Amino acid sequence: MATNQQIYWHTTIKMPDDSNLTPIPEKVDVAIIGGGYTGLSAARTLAKRGVNVAVLEAETIGWGASSRNGGMTLTGLKVPMQTIIKKYGRDIAKELFQCSIDSVNTVEEIIKEENINCGFSRTGHLLAANKPKHFDALKDEVEFMAKEFNHKVHLVAPGELKSEIGTDVYHGALVDDVSGGLNPAQFVTGLADAAEKAGANLCARARVNRLRRGENRFVLETERGALSAESILVATSGYTGNVTQKLQKKIIPIGSFIIATERLSDELAHELSPKNRMIFDFKHYLNYFRLWDNRMIFGGRAAFFPENKNTIAQSGEILRREMIQVYPQLRDTKVEYVWGGTLDFAFDQMTHVGELDGVHYSLGYAGHGVAMGTYLGKTVAEAMLNGNIKDHPFAKFDFPNAPLGLYDGRPWFLPFAGMWHKILDWVE
Ligand SMILES: Cc1cc2nc3c(=O)[nH]c(=O)nc-3n(C[C@H](O)[C@H](O)[C@H](O)COP(=O)(O)OP(=O)(O)OC[C@H]3O[C@@H](n4cnc5c(N)ncnc54)[C@H](O)[C@@H]3O)c2cc1C
Repeated sequence: MATNQQIYWHTTIKMPDDSNLTPIPEKVDVAIIGGGYTGLSAARTLAKRGVNVAVLEAETIGWGASSRNGGMTLTGLKVPMQTIIKKYGRDIAKELFQCSIDSVNTVEEIIKEENINCGFSRTGHLLAANKPKHFDALKDEVEFMAKEFNHKVHLVAPGELKSEIGTDVYHGALVDDVSGGLNPAQFVTGLADAAEKAGANLCARARVNRLRRGENRFVLETERGALSAESILVATSGYTGNVTQKLQKKIIPIGSFIIATERLSDELAHELSPKNRMIFDFKHYLNYFRLWDNRMIFGGRAAFFPENKNTIAQSGEILRREMIQVYPQLRDTKVEYVWGGTLDFAFDQMTHVGELDGVHYSLGYAGHGVAMGTYLGKTVAEAMLNGNIKDHPFAKFDFPNAPLGLYDGRPWFLPFAGMWHKILDWVE
């Protein structure tokens, strides 16, 4: 069977569509731009508090990264906690790490409260060492996490790896049992239903083309008409465009791609990942993979540019080769689906929330947005209600612009960055 350029997750649920468009309200308290985890979680929180809220989504609800990702619901941040302590100090680092634990708990709580059927399970994550010296670093990490954050993670020695992963290519691993996994499309659809049930207006095909400040209120011009709002939350992640140009210049959109194999036998699936962990490796140009419904879901930053027909097709080839390097057992397995999506990286690779020119934002998840987007949607919404966004742990450090201002939102430097990461993986 030829590989379909289609998002596998979308075959597992009826995604929200545009068959019955919610009219654009004339006036709301809060307008949210972007209908993924961040926007929908914020909308749910606000609507439950009686706030009149509209989510304005350019495509269909859940269209962006939120229905395309690996479903890994992870503790920690993209930037290692050791670096965060050095850069921002212990107090901020502790707050941020606690947010990451709370973020996984928030996903679990929402799923339970709203009865969302998305296969969430605390499977734990496994960070695999590509080189022996990575394993030495993981040994330090176990001690460091226990000492600084009272957080227990454990090592898997190279000789014991078969109990965790059916391959010989790694040099040991670290396991964090607090992380989980879910089906991202089922989760975003459930979150949308929950926000709507709470009273939020979910407006698909409502790309915001212009944003201006009127007297005491904002006016948002969408492709289906204008609305006015007291406050705005920007939740556009890797798809942030020039409607919020100052934010666009702080975010690098980076492509990430995934393949899904045909269904494997129970025995083979068990051999590849006996504990059904969320697995990723140590490389800069990293691979991440996990099972779902006995399919191997294998992702990576195979091309740095965002998804289009070419980058998806090339990535399908690259990812299949990489998957076979990890799991030679899959040499003859069919790859049935390949797709891509866009991640949002800030120049410091940190997540940022705050207010710019009176507009609130939550951006820069760097591949950690399943848990963090859901959590920050909720907590930024709460901070908007309380008027204390500056006190949010993720608002306590600068959201940098590009070095030397050499960036207008079009990432011309991505091929160089991709090459640089490959070089780092080779020399480190
Ligand atoms: C392939 C891939 C794999 C990933 N794997 C993982 C993973 O395993 N674990 C993890 O934690 N994270 C992962 N991520 C990241 C995660 O998916 C994102 O961080 C998260 O979904 C971001 O959610 P969001 O709601 O902020 O943005 P999105 O879900 O991307 O939604 C933003 C929305 O904004 C809309 N928009 C943009 N501009 C406008 C406008 N002007 N008007 C109206 N709407 C607009 C877009 O159409 C889009 O739907 C992955 C991402 C990708 C692409």
